Amino acid sequence: MREVKTAKGVKTSDLANELKMTTAELITTLNDLGVMTDGPSSMIDEATVATVKEMLQEASAEKVAEVPANPTVREVAESLGLSPNLLVKKLMEMGQLIAANQRINMALAEKLALGFGYKLKIKAEAKPEPKPLANKHKGPAGATQPRPPVVTIMGHVDHGKTSLLDSIRKAKVADGEFGGITQHIGAYQVEVEHNGEKRKITFLDTPGHEAFTEMRARGAQVTDIVILVVAADDGIMPQTIEAIHHAQAAEVPMIVAINKIDKPDARPDRIKQQLTEHNVLVEEYGGDVITVPVSAKTGEGIPELLEYLLLVADVQEFQADPHGHATGAVVEASIETGRGAIATLLVQSGTLRVGDIVVAGLSFGKVRAMMNERGERVLKAGPSTPVEVQGLNSSPAAGDSVEVVKTEKEARQITEKRIEKERNVRMSGGVRRLTLDDLSRQAQEGLIKDLNIILKGDVQGSVEAVLGQLKKINEADPDNEVRITVKLSGVGLINESDISLAVATGAIVIGFNVRPDVSAQRAAERDGVDVRTYNIIYKLTEDIERAMRGLLTPVYEEVILGSAKVLQRFQTSKGQVIAGCSVQDGKLQRGAEARIIRGNTTLYTSRIESLRRMKDDVREVLQGFECGIVMENWSDVQPDDIFQCFEMRQVERL
Ligand code: GDP
Repeated sequence: MREVKTAKGVKTSDLANELKMTTAELITTLNDLGVMTDGPSSMIDEATVATVKEMLQEASAEKVAEVPANPTVREVAESLGLSPNLLVKKLMEMGQLIAANQRINMALAEKLALGFGYKLKIKAEAKPEPKPLANKHKGPAGATQPRPPVVTIMGHVDHGKTSLLDSIRKAKVADGEFGGITQHIGAYQVEVEHNGEKRKITFLDTPGHEAFTEMRARGAQVTDIVILVVAADDGIMPQTIEAIHHAQAAEVPMIVAINKIDKPDARPDRIKQQLTEHNVLVEEYGGDVITVPVSAKTGEGIPELLEYLLLVADVQEFQADPHGHATGAVVEASIETGRGAIATLLVQSGTLRVGDIVVAGLSFGKVRAMMNERGERVLKAGPSTPVEVQGLNSSPAAGDSVEVVKTEKEARQITEKRIEKERNVRMSGGVRRLTLDDLSRQAQEGLIKDLNIILKGDVQGSVEAVLGQLKKINEADPDNEVRITVKLSGVGLINESDISLAVATGAIVIGFNVRPDVSAQRAAERDGVDVRTYNIIYKLTEDIERAMRGLLTPVYEEVILGSAKVLQRFQTSKGQVIAGCSVQDGKLQRGAEARIIRGNTTLYTSRIESLRRMKDDVREVLQGFECGIVMENWSDVQPDDIFQCFEMRQVERL
């Protein structure tokens, strides 16, 4: 037996216990200090013990990392300067199967960070207005409790989103668990037996990624889990891909429901393979995304789907403090005759009660009555509960935040301030979000800003070419602290949902050989999103590289004036081709430049040589009117072509 040292001191294994580390970790620490130990039972002298304790204390005092509340694993990794994979592995060792982009609660994040010697601090977020009551009157600190997950269903049109929502609702009504008829209030809850326990799940009843991202764009992070519906007899379609991107951009965990498996031509295995091709790593291919075969028609697989939702919820540990005043988000709202403004609110923390004074976006009021999705009156609603509320003075917008305040006077003050702010923003030319020029300026001033990009292109090949170039920019200069992240890339015109995703992710939108459609153009102007279009790849990369180095100096900006659709082609006896058009939006202006668009492709950019209403030459033609157009140097006119009229305006330099 080894001779025990006589010096006064502590046994290595005991000290390790005291310091809450493994003996091996302690031995490594001691080695770092230059103290050699023989093993768990060797003694460490008092002076060394003091030094070790001091060192650990110093280390823990110095090492504080900042993360947002309930961060994703990736965010924790970034704050610690470690690779997300390392943390995922560490979590696995802790018995938790969590992907890098999934959110974890603070307790787990702290435990995880502590394992690497860091304390976590929640990053303070700048709040635009005084925060209402919500966080006062709280229960005991940290009195959070598990809450039901909030689920949104997304997927391609006709793949069965609505049917699935109906089927889940009906299954539960038929069970007799919820007698009565459910009404549409924008969200509903079902109760499911899970491990012998009754658990609730909240479904948002406005399927689709447009509503989801629109809400995110307004600042509401409502959805906890996304169900991606894919029809087993069809496959991955454009909106499936969009939905995947939107869910991934929001870093919300996803379960795939492979629907319509009752159909004879259902091929669920093919879907799984297609999913992996679109970066959704399903379990069968070594990933962690669960797929569940279901039939919204027969109800097959629905219980399993609900079960999996609860499993994901268990892993994620969704929590909220039910004590104190409620905060939440507007799910939908409308004005109804005789009832005034009706809004469905989803409580996210605290408890909402009849009689509470609520501020919701630009609206406020005293909650006169609340109803659940079964039309029953309720007096209070806790976390993850949707309720239809009466008593607001106007109709808020979906995604608006909801808070409870003390007095109506206070509520009025808050909303008046917000309304005034909105007005000011409008008068000063709209909200301004990050543009490539801003980025350039910030880079110049040494302020670092990541560059998020939404990329749309005319064909898959060109999208991939651009992606490749962007990747090269990141790789060519690994030391540049501005990093490019492509939040979404896809084929097709830039649409409104791209703009709301840009708002939600603070991205700029780049179109390669594609333009924004009319509603996207409007949304971009309204929301101040920087939309840039290119048809030469090196111009695109040059702009981005210059912006990243702080060298971009914009001069001109294109402003869309309007567009017209060709109804008919005429040819005069002299051979001149006239396009008989109807102006769809904005106006067309003689002399202005115009793009000739067929399908998704711009064929040519020309000038409006002549513009006629009836027999008269006119300077401009407004929306809703028909006109005859002659394009300079362009005679290949076909019905359904679009003439998009634009002008270049000098960009105001700041
Ligand atoms: P959404 O556009 O994604 O909301 O799709 P819908 O729920 O409206 O469904 C589109 C069509 O598919 C409808 O005709 C449904 O009846 C049908 N459908 C939906 N789910 C199933 C299913 O599981 N099996 C079969 N056979 N048809 C389904």
